[in-house]
Amino acid sequence: MPGMFNADVLTGTRRLFYAVTPNETSFERLEDVPDYFYEAIPFFGLMSLIEMIVTISDKKVRERFFLADSISSLSAGMLLLLTAFLAYGVNIGMYVWVHEHYRLATLPWNSPWTWVICFVLVDFGYYWMHRMTHEVNIFWAAHQVHHSSEEYNLTTALRQSICQRFVSWMFYLPLALAIPPPMFMMHQQFNTLYQFWIHTRAIKSLGPLEYILNTPSHHRVHHGRNRYCIDKNYAGTLIIWDRMFGTFEPESDPVVFGLVHPLESFNPLYTQYCHFKYIVETAWNMPGLTNKLWVFLKGPGWTPGLPRQGSIKDIPDIHYPMPKYRPKLPRWIFAYIIAHFAINFIVYDAFMTSRTTLSPTATFCSMAYIILTLTCLGAIGDAKPAAPFLEVVRSCLVLVAEAIASSYLPIMQRGSSQWVFYLLRAAFGLSIVVWLPRCVSVLTQRKNKAE
Ligand SMILES: [Zn+2]
Ligand SMILES: [Zn+2]
Repeated sequence: MPGMFNADVLTGTRRLFYAVTPNETSFERLEDVPDYFYEAIPFFGLMSLIEMIVTISDKKVRERFFLADSISSLSAGMLLLLTAFLAYGVNIGMYVWVHEHYRLATLPWNSPWTWVICFVLVDFGYYWMHRMTHEVNIFWAAHQVHHSSEEYNLTTALRQSICQRFVSWMFYLPLALAIPPPMFMMHQQFNTLYQFWIHTRAIKSLGPLEYILNTPSHHRVHHGRNRYCIDKNYAGTLIIWDRMFGTFEPESDPVVFGLVHPLESFNPLYTQYCHFKYIVETAWNMPGLTNKLWVFLKGPGWTPGLPRQGSIKDIPDIHYPMPKYRPKLPRWIFAYIIAHFAINFIVYDAFMTSRTTLSPTATFCSMAYIILTLTCLGAIGDAKPAAPFLEVVRSCLVLVAEAIASSYLPIMQRGSSQWVFYLLRAAFGLSIVVWLPRCVSVLTQRKNKAE
């Protein structure tokens, strides 16, 4: 996989707004389509950083940013790309199979008309896919990850479900009857990229563009838990689909963001599986086989006796200001989270760019380190009593791995990378020093409680 720093600043920025030409984004072969999403990561980071600085430098809106929440969102995005290989076969693989065996026509891969038709159809497919992920409970179990933040900023855009792609491909399959796979694969990526910049509270309205495009204002409504926001504005790029199919709602009362029943967790793994667990438990306790089935297939708010999508009266009232989930954390914790997230991101980038050449052991160790680190940082953000123990275990594991790596790579061969080994030892040695006394403190508190 090529690196993430392939695009120049202007090109990378244009791509986030779908401001690309058919000429530069049409390809004959699937393998020639760039990984636009991966190449956009530096621009996601830069724009998120600018938004964060602007937000926290303004006292009136400073509370809109919470580091643990943003780290949790970024973690979900990283897990999505980390596990992309699991879904490649079902997503583009099924599309290619249908196109090769059942296509009714072959639109030319280099025609601007094919480009425009595909743009519209991918967006149409996205509308229905997105609507179904809200209206069918088992699909919602995947999609609720994206709505699980109580904040609304650019990092929220990266909070994505690992499982959603296992169902989303079905909604685009009719396109395979005529549209070449490289064109579809390109537009599907840009449709997703476009939705990054609309996750912001910094832009109020875009005037006449609000009639046609999905905008920050429209998408804020989609992320709201106010009654008027529920099941509205499913658009990807064009808001016209919501206007056509009766799901459009303009922004009015101040939007309160997040799930109707907030998760109150920054654990990136729990966020991914919690609603699946809830559905299985609900179905298990539901009387009657048909009702058990409807728990999976009707809306998330359905119970026997209610319409398919549940009752809007069951949506809790909004009282301003609504309290948010904000565990109390000492200030140094934020610096610690940033430092260890940065180290993790360096490992992540190195892994993503070289994973096709890595041995199975190296692949397993890298993925385990990345997932364990993101889970531990979530536990720290949640102020979980287990967090100090997890951090000590994680730091010990890294030091052991570093010692093993050192023994395989004699000092003479390390050359200029020797400082990396010293840095790792210092960072994780310091972590153990920081967290060990807190482990003792948690154990002492437990002992005192028990007495
Ligand atoms: Zn949604
Ligand atoms: Zn969104």
